[in-house]
Amino acid sequence: MATNVQGPTPENAEWAVILEELEIPYRQRRLSGALFALCQFHDEKSPSMFMWPDGNLYCHGCNVQMSINEFLPEVHAGAVVQEEWQAHDQKMRQEIPGWDEPPF
Ligand SMILES: [Zn+2]
Repeated sequence: MATNVQGPTPENAEWAVILEELEIPYRQRRLSGALFALCQFHDEKSPSMFMWPDGNLYCHGCNVQMSINEFLPEVHAGAVVQEEWQAHDQKMRQEIPGWDEPPF
């Protein structure tokens, strides 16, 4: 049996289950087996959030890193923060002229 092809690890399968549950589209790197998807912790248009077969997550866009056990609670916490931020943002738009202008 050839063993030079890296098969999915239990963590790999677990990542896939979590991503499918959250309906986050993802792809898999052929060589490393890492899964990658759009980051759930910052806005981006091309995926830079990598979920490694050893169970660790790292985002090259916002440098967030965590283990597979921390991911779900963090995503749920992130969703709350984002809702709070949107409410705050909307309020500020009404109260402060130029609030939503680009900084540069
Ligand atoms: Zn990120």
